[in-house]
Amino acid sequence: MSTRAAIYARISRDAEDEGLGVARQVQDCERRAARDAFTVVDTYIDNDISASTGSRKPRPEYDRLLADARAGRFDVVLAYSNSRLTRRPRELEDIIDHHDRHGTRFLTVVSGDDDLSTADGRMTARIKASVDAAEAERTSERLRRKHQQLAESGRHIGPRPFGWDFNDDRTLRINQAEAAVLRDCVQRVLAGEGIWKITKDLNARGVPTSTGKTWATQVLRRVLLRWRNCGLRSHQPLDKDGRRTGPVALSPGQWEPIIDRETHERVVATLTAPERRTNNRGTEPKYLLTSVAYCGECGGHVVGTNEFTYEVKGGLRKDGTRGPSRARTYPHAYKCPTAGCMKVQRTMADVDEHVTTFVLALLARDGVRLLGGDPVAAEQARERIAALKAQLDLAVDRYADGEWTDEQVTRLNARLRPQIEAEEARLRQAQPDSALADWADADADVLRERWTAADVETRKALIRRLGVKVTIHRVGPGNAGDGYDPSSVSIVPA
Ligand SMILES: [Zn+2]
Repeated sequence: MSTRAAIYARISRDAEDEGLGVARQVQDCERRAARDAFTVVDTYIDNDISASTGSRKPRPEYDRLLADARAGRFDVVLAYSNSRLTRRPRELEDIIDHHDRHGTRFLTVVSGDDDLSTADGRMTARIKASVDAAEAERTSERLRRKHQQLAESGRHIGPRPFGWDFNDDRTLRINQAEAAVLRDCVQRVLAGEGIWKITKDLNARGVPTSTGKTWATQVLRRVLLRWRNCGLRSHQPLDKDGRRTGPVALSPGQWEPIIDRETHERVVATLTAPERRTNNRGTEPKYLLTSVAYCGECGGHVVGTNEFTYEVKGGLRKDGTRGPSRARTYPHAYKCPTAGCMKVQRTMADVDEHVTTFVLALLARDGVRLLGGDPVAAEQARERIAALKAQLDLAVDRYADGEWTDEQVTRLNARLRPQIEAEEARLRQAQPDSALADWADADADVLRERWTAADVETRKALIRRLGVKVTIHRVGPGNAGDGYDPSSVSIVPA
């Protein structure tokens, strides 16, 4: 039997630069196979092109190659060069291990064949791998420097940005119509309008993006956050693995700004304010009503539980064998966790849907009133706070003049503090919540869509803000799950 060979080729950006397309890699390997009278049993090709220079992309074909080698499908792996096969020295160690265990030989067209079963062969292979790695690092360093230089030169790189047109030499000049749209969006953001609403408005007015598409909130947000808008070019250095690192560096761009820097900084501050960034939280709560809904028995909060599956063993038969086992799955649920109570439990999906329907209906009907704030109430609260604080000030003055005793001041303070705090809470309630403003004025379909897209934290914030109180009541014995009775959960608006 002739020697069976597998060919491995890898498409990558560096290979492209060297004119080493995948076809050329495979051809050269086939030629080598023919010369050595190998029978090629399979060809494995990975596409390793990724945005980062030091690729950590998985290589599914490489994994399949190693699995097939373990299964003994071939004796030899052929690659164009060592660097096609392994991307960094650590991967060579895997190849060496593999050779030790399964005896697979790894041969190349241009890097020679290292006998991995001898110490000398392994040393040569390791030296070559570290030379390759150094070369790859130098290449990516060159690229990084090139990028840095382009950034520092202040030229615009990339497609046409919204707000500008290209001159013949690809420098930018302001597109007055788009610039006006941009300035308008900036004013609206600074006035506290939600990005979502502005996006909707742009699309309703038929204003396209720079590529002629309709706007998405994330796209508009990015456009508004560009430092380019105020004439600056931002550059974030990449490390050797192509990951963004360090702070963003700003340098003057070679184009006319559309808004001034101070205004842009306010836009950035507004759009990146932590209370606005309800997405991408590190510790996102998993369940909608954990710490929100109450137990109808003890009044404590319920918690969400994971679904779990357990196996029910089949019964013993007369002949001593067992019947088939069955798996039983309990779905996600809300439970009262309070020791001594734990009397309430309900299927999570049912309660969530019930509450969701309620909240969305409430928003569709009363969203503007409930989320939009109440300027009159806010003003009244402010006045009362001012009056209460004036009383306190007066008492302090009297104390300073020797008219009041220490004890009198303390007593007054104890009486006024809770009142001030209550008024401050009223003031908070009466002020519009900019993070939730987008939810105030939308119709039911849009609300449902946005609710589906929102993260749990945002949904919880809405329920809290609306003051909706959810209580899960105990149902009679034998409640173990058949059907959901909506009357067993009370949902009360504030
Ligand atoms: Zn309870």
